[in-house]
Amino acid sequence: MKQRATPRFLLLVSAFVVCTPGWGQEAARFTRQRMAMVDLITAHGVRDSATLDAMRKVPRHEFVAPETLTRAYGDHPLPIGYGQTISQPYIVAFMTEVLRPKPGMRVLEVGTGSGYQAAVLAHIGCEVFSIELIGALATSARDRLDRLGYTAEVRHADGHHGWPEGGSFDAIIVTAAAGYIPPALVEQLRTGGRMIIPVGSVYGVQNLILVEKRGDGDLRTRNLLPVRFVPMLSGIR
Ligand code: SAH
Repeated sequence: MKQRATPRFLLLVSAFVVCTPGWGQEAARFTRQRMAMVDLITAHGVRDSATLDAMRKVPRHEFVAPETLTRAYGDHPLPIGYGQTISQPYIVAFMTEVLRPKPGMRVLEVGTGSGYQAAVLAHIGCEVFSIELIGALATSARDRLDRLGYTAEVRHADGHHGWPEGGSFDAIIVTAAAGYIPPALVEQLRTGGRMIIPVGSVYGVQNLILVEKRGDGDLRTRNLLPVRFVPMLSGIR
């Protein structure tokens, strides 16, 4: 009787998995490190369950450069090339929580970088639009998000102009330090929406500012936290 091919194929796959024990061990180590990272974020006061759950699930080690893999879950920013960084996990959590993210919310991100922040928002179920100034980073983030199964639109453009034909956004998150709050972003925020943005000079003081857009064009801004981000640049490259 003719043998079916599938069982033999399965045997080969099982043999491969059994013979490469390091693979499973590494995955388990990353998971442990990720849980410890979220414990630390919780200890620092982040409470939003959607944010914490997303950060327990999104594999941050997939978003860092290979040479920094062992530090993927430390509470610090890491270089991602082109002079840019993936933000510190606590800051990602803090900024995400401030947006009060919910499934179905339309969120605009300025500064895609590695795509990690976009993945956290996509995991929560937000509809994510993300803008990146550096073409190579936009391309690699788009590929990475696709490969890992996160749905986010990534555009190579200057975020100062926002996403003009994107309608209005429930929330906007800017992950590079701006010299001022870009008027286009305020315009594209819906009434009742929230924007979180680091504002300040490159080498001096920067503050994370929460902008709340109320009725009649009334804007309320609040300083939340002193921070240090890479600068928001002008002119795509
Ligand atoms: N959110 C990212 C980290 C952002 S680092 C992550 O999760 O990995 C800041 C990013 O903003 C960099 O990738 C930088 O290239 C980008 N950037 C700087 N100025 C910008 C601008 N005007 N428009 C869009 N992106 C910008």
